[in-house]
Amino acid sequence: MADCIFCKIAAGEIPSHKVYEDETCIAILDVCPVAKGHTLIIPKKHAENLFALSEEEASEIMKRVHHVAGQLKERLHPDGLNLVQNNGEAAGQTVMHFHMHAIPRFANDDVKINWHMPQADQEVLSALCKEITA
Ligand code: 5GP
Ligand code: ZN
Repeated sequence: MADCIFCKIAAGEIPSHKVYEDETCIAILDVCPVAKGHTLIIPKKHAENLFALSEEEASEIMKRVHHVAGQLKERLHPDGLNLVQNNGEAAGQTVMHFHMHAIPRFANDDVKINWHMPQADQEVLSALCKEITA
């Protein structure tokens, strides 16, 4: 994709701090980290989001996510780690090339990944479950 920033980074046309690379993916430090070691795992082949990936491609990327998360755990010794992945503008996606955020978390850090979670009505959940599975 001609003007995709992550395609350019994957091709080495734009510099990045690469912490992992293989034939399928790169992992780079996020330029605006929310926490120490905030890393993006990015497939080299352009795909806009999760829905543009085949099941096999998604599974190959997930292997790399697992590897890089382990690498961050081993080297930075976080107390926890969030995986975050946004699909579509409404979900907060700003770079339209699939990527997974791996965010190391440290006890008492002030990173906020919270949303309001009101208790749901069981009947509403039941109807919704039918809507999704019927
Ligand atoms: P999204 O909101 O699409 O899930 O996340 C995009 C992420 O890409 C953001 O966290 C942003 O800081 C990061 N980002 C955007 N442009 C660049 C760049 O040129 N280099 C790097 N390393 N990260 C970038
Ligand atoms: Zn791209």
